[in-house]
Amino acid sequence: MSGSIGTVSNMVKNSCVSFLNDKDLKEDVSKVLQRPIKIANDANCFTLSEAYDGSGKNKKVVCGIILGKGCGGGLVINSNLISGANAITAEWGHNSLPWATFDENNAPACYCGLKGCIEQWISGSGLSRCYEKRTKLKKTGKEIYELAQKGESNAIFEINALTDRIGRVIANICNVIDPDVVVLGGGLSNINSLYDELPEIIQKHVFSQTWHSQVLPAYWGDASILRGAARLWD
Ligand SMILES: [Zn+2]
Repeated sequence: MSGSIGTVSNMVKNSCVSFLNDKDLKEDVSKVLQRPIKIANDANCFTLSEAYDGSGKNKKVVCGIILGKGCGGGLVINSNLISGANAITAEWGHNSLPWATFDENNAPACYCGLKGCIEQWISGSGLSRCYEKRTKLKKTGKEIYELAQKGESNAIFEINALTDRIGRVIANICNVIDPDVVVLGGGLSNINSLYDELPEIIQKHVFSQTWHSQVLPAYWGDASILRGAARLWD
């Protein structure tokens, strides 16, 4: 699910599917299905799956980042999914974009009520917005990547800018959590050049002379969200 279950109220919070917020989704679904259910944030499920037997297998600290329509995150340490005292662990999509340039300071509003959230930059919708601002053309993230592969200069510019932003975000995460591996999922994780280019950008920003963690695509792809949801029963 998008969002999480509040640790005090049991109600959904922080969901971009806004009609779910403040609803007792777990109880409601459980009633309809007439059986107990487990429910968790989609990026948390994704990271749990990848840490269990995917790209984060046998790693101590695994960060998951879903770069889809928005930007979700999850954290698994020693095989344990960390959801946090307030169910907001790994919600770095709603931190500010780190080391923002002058242009990036003029950031759009986010559905969460703040301005300039990471999610507004490193997501399919963020990429579309940036490309539209540059070209006045509406394209999806996938279309922009395809145009870049064909050599279209505006698309190449925006894919490079996106890569730099993702690198800064991961460096920022590394300075707090220092993961062994960062696993990327979602549509933008299909940009193959990310895996060659991100380590250098991360190294440039991280507070360490050497950085030898990994950034890898999801082993199980989008299926990790459902596989991780099943793992909630382990
Ligand atoms: Zn936000």
